[in-house]
Amino acid sequence: MSITSYFKPVGSHGKQPEPNSSSDKKEKEPEKNKTGRDGSGPSEIKIPSDLGEADHEPVQPKIASFNPKQYGNSKRDFSASWYNGRTWLEYSVEKGAAFCFPCRHFESSSKDRTFTKVGYSNWRHALDKHKGFQKHENSQTHVEAMVIWQERKMRIEKNQSVSTMVNEKQLEKNRYYIKSVVEVIQFLCVNELPMRGDGKSGAGCLDTSSESQGEPSGLFMKLFQYTLSKDKKLLEIIQMIPKNATYTSARIQNEIIDIMKDTVIENVVNDIKEADIPFFSIKSD
Ligand SMILES: [Zn+2]
Repeated sequence: MSITSYFKPVGSHGKQPEPNSSSDKKEKEPEKNKTGRDGSGPSEIKIPSDLGEADHEPVQPKIASFNPKQYGNSKRDFSASWYNGRTWLEYSVEKGAAFCFPCRHFESSSKDRTFTKVGYSNWRHALDKHKGFQKHENSQTHVEAMVIWQERKMRIEKNQSVSTMVNEKQLEKNRYYIKSVVEVIQFLCVNELPMRGDGKSGAGCLDTSSESQGEPSGLFMKLFQYTLSKDKKLLEIIQMIPKNATYTSARIQNEIIDIMKDTVIENVVNDIKEADIPFFSIKSD
């Protein structure tokens, strides 16, 4: 399986019916809009054409005035400083709203389309804790999209061959697979459990074949094997992918953890920046 299999073909977003994108209550879009109302007419969502393509970088324009909005007596606007620490953040001048580059290109499972199709423009709550940007960054689909994006960038840098000719079914399978890997890692991290074992019996690789030697070592592999035993779909997928591309190696585990860690740090730093306090201290263990 190539990471390039995660590519969403350009233009595959299709046209969707448009909910009102400018309202403050658009923090989370109701699911009923997923398939649209009547699916036609002027209410369709138009994906802005001024955002980054999958092979390019996120579009982060720096202009004096973005899309100022009045909230009671105060006016708030998007700020170019918001790009700092948010590599994923994009701004569409055409739509006057913020988007998420990796989610637009590399994830499709989320029901919340605020950062992928509708566009986020609730500037008053953009930086609030557990709202706006932070809420999006903490979503599992965003973390998965970040992993896929980083992996893809790394491969492109290494000049590995790319193919964008993948069908939707394969895309869905690949996403399902990587989602399962991320979930296992997330479970171990949240519960402060070690990933790897004693290095014996193939700790760093996954072997579902009949020639498998012994039991997998390390909690990650054991938990992943357990997941496989309970999930027929996942088992079918893993049997179809090359043994050297199971995304279960220690390196991939570390990369996924790094992305999760970066997300947490970004959130903490942004919290501190936004808080109106002269001093702070951080306690960790
Ligand atoms: Zn995202």
